[in-house]
Amino acid sequence: MRVMDVGPPRAVLVAAFDALDHEAGIALYARAPIVDSAPLGPSHRRYANSAALVECDLAPLQLLALLQRIERRFGRGRAQRRGQLWRARALDLDIILWSGGVWASPDLTIPHREMRNRSFVVEPACAVAGAWRDPVTGLTLAHISARLGRKRKGAHPKG
Ligand code: AMP
Repeated sequence: MRVMDVGPPRAVLVAAFDALDHEAGIALYARAPIVDSAPLGPSHRRYANSAALVECDLAPLQLLALLQRIERRFGRGRAQRRGQLWRARALDLDIILWSGGVWASPDLTIPHREMRNRSFVVEPACAVAGAWRDPVTGLTLAHISARLGRKRKGAHPKG
């Protein structure tokens, strides 16, 4: 059995940026460089991560619905095919921060719950909005990113 690859991760991200850019009512202001990261789950495939700074008139739940429509277009959520151990996700789009501060509802939490612990989220977000403050901790993305970097070094003193 093997894990299916759904396309070069970087190419999927470039296409996702283009999809966002073509959505009516969304202005794509900045794209972060695409960085590779190791998978968190039982996958053997590589992941690519990035972040976009967008402006839109949509309410957060409407934006989430739009992102989920784009994710579906890229094949996320299809049934497993025979012979595959674990279907790799094609695309995962999350809302990390928004201009309105904190949002908490059953389907959506902003800032994203795992944001502060994941350098593959914070680093790209920092590249497009380093001065943006996390409304919960009051720290900027640049500060959170630096803190995560220090933690990583502390965890691997010889690395
Ligand atoms: P995941 O598969 O981990 O990306 O989780 C997807 C689910 O997380 C979605 O169905 C959303 O309802 C929920 N969710 C909660 N907060 C967020 C967020 N800030 N951005 C995207 N999805 C979120």
